[in-house]
Amino acid sequence: TMLVAFSFSGIAELWADFMRASGAAERVFELLDRKPAIGAGGEQLTYLRGHVQFRGVHFAYPSRPDVPVLQGLDLELRPGEVVAVVGPSGAGKSTLASLLSRFYDPQNGEVLLDGHPLTSLEPEWLRRNIGMVAQEPQLFSCSIADNIRYGRPGATDAQVEEAARAANAHAYIERFPEGYGTQVGERGVQLSGGQKQRVAIARAVLKDPRLLILDEATSALDAESEHLVKDALERLMKGRTTLIIAHRLSTVANADRVLVLDGGLVIQSGTHASLMSQEGLYRRLVERQFVAA
Ligand code: ADP
Ligand code: MG
Repeated sequence: TMLVAFSFSGIAELWADFMRASGAAERVFELLDRKPAIGAGGEQLTYLRGHVQFRGVHFAYPSRPDVPVLQGLDLELRPGEVVAVVGPSGAGKSTLASLLSRFYDPQNGEVLLDGHPLTSLEPEWLRRNIGMVAQEPQLFSCSIADNIRYGRPGATDAQVEEAARAANAHAYIERFPEGYGTQVGERGVQLSGGQKQRVAIARAVLKDPRLLILDEATSALDAESEHLVKDALERLMKGRTTLIIAHRLSTVANADRVLVLDGGLVIQSGTHASLMSQEGLYRRLVERQFVAA
């Protein structure tokens, strides 16, 4: 039962994180009832470079077919590139993450990974290669060690600790009397937002995915946590293709490229500096310090 629990939880975690990321936790059950018809089977690539392309993607949620979310969107993430996506609330930023993880398929256009349509790849394999750190990660009611181990079920205690160190979580975990054995969740200790996020980062470190999706926290992290989370994320992003749904200016400044999403399309793209030098939505968003989305 352990193995079954792990593999189910892997998906459940992704679902839960993703739904949180989209700010739609209350829709989880509704969605679970309406699983998209995305079957098993398909190819696994032996070597993944992490090149992502959205080509002319049209998408509406199956429950609201008359409300287009993406309307011919083109987007490219080159291997190892860090791309930040900004845009008004409801612009479709979290939907990009959902399509990339194949919780849904576009009605028109396609998403490619290393040149292969996502529809030709095995969904489980795909999800093993995508790490997700959401705004408010869900932890399971078990030990901190096992929460981290969800990233890679076979990991040894030493590997779990190494991941926690890389995630700036080791020090606070060690301060609990029961250390890594500390129970969290409903009947365990309550971790702060920043502590939970560092558990999620440690999971992603263990998972070692080629693709990383970050939905930045807007919720108030205390200053120390914020610094430790940022530092851990920067380390995690190294060498991975990273899509950041950015809420803060400081993140965008470090991205290789910024995409501005509005009306179902990428309407502006460039570095922070180049986008600031022109009239447009980006500059208006910056003036408003971005909207929480
Ligand atoms: P953003 O992350 O940019 O705020 P989303 O990608 O979450 O935007 O949402 C884009 C649009 O799709 C919004 O209008 C939102 O209400 C709608 N939407 C998001 N998730 C769902 C869903 N599961 N079912 C139906 N509509 C959804
Ligand atoms: Mg969102």
